Amino acid sequence: MIVFDGVEKRFGDTVVLSDLSFTVAPAEHVTLIGPSGSGKTTILRLLMCLDSVTRGTIRVAGQELTGDEKRSRQVRRRIGMVFQQFNLFPNMTVRGNLIEAPTRVLGLSKDEANARAVELLDLVGLREKIDEHPSRLSGGQQQRVAIARALAMRPDVLLLDEVTSALDPELVAGVLALLRDIGETTDITILCVTHEMGFARDFSHRVMMFDGGRVIEDAPPERLFTAPEQPRTQEFLKAVL
Ligand code: ATP
Repeated sequence: MIVFDGVEKRFGDTVVLSDLSFTVAPAEHVTLIGPSGSGKTTILRLLMCLDSVTRGTIRVAGQELTGDEKRSRQVRRRIGMVFQQFNLFPNMTVRGNLIEAPTRVLGLSKDEANARAVELLDLVGLREKIDEHPSRLSGGQQQRVAIARALAMRPDVLLLDEVTSALDPELVAGVLALLRDIGETTDITILCVTHEMGFARDFSHRVMMFDGGRVIEDAPPERLFTAPEQPRTQEFLKAVL
């Protein structure tokens, strides 16, 4: 369960999120949509403790995110994040990327972490690449490894930030199919920022439309995409669909 309660985030005089409150239930898939600069990535960064709120509270599984480094680390351990630019460790093999955090952070033995890595590479269809370095993989393959790496930590929450934006168009479908598969076969809570409206429509239980740091519409995709209530949502969807 993720709870934002009266969250404000400002950078200097710029208010990026304003009195933001929402809840994401366990195993729920929520997609954040909205124009560039509306605050979507900031929400994911706050959840990863890469930034902190200027007012209000955020709780994940009952634990409040505070500036306290030890507490943040505990919460962050339960959250996996996949970025637009993959962010794999370039000097490590695929195996190295997958076993690094489970051994170092979770204290798994090398054998345990390796077994988990092989299982996840099977899931993402890249077992034969286990000893390659990321630079020898396509963008789509790197992103599938990044997803496997996030799952290797057995997160309760998965944050996906524009995970297909940097991919060649023909590689997008494979990554989205993998995410659909993960969505259907796990009970991970997923918060996703995407411009792929087709994906948002069939992957999400709920879509939240942001504008100016506020949620202006929050509805199931079948309602939001077919009968948006807010003029700003209608305008945004007309531009992106
Ligand atoms: P996009 O769809 O383009 O990724 P977004 O909705 O994810 O946009 P954010 O990246 O959350 O938007 O940014 C929201 C606003 O916060 C923007 O106006 C941005 O310029 C501002 N912002 C983000 N990080 C900082 C920072 N470190 N310092 C100052 N302003 C920032």
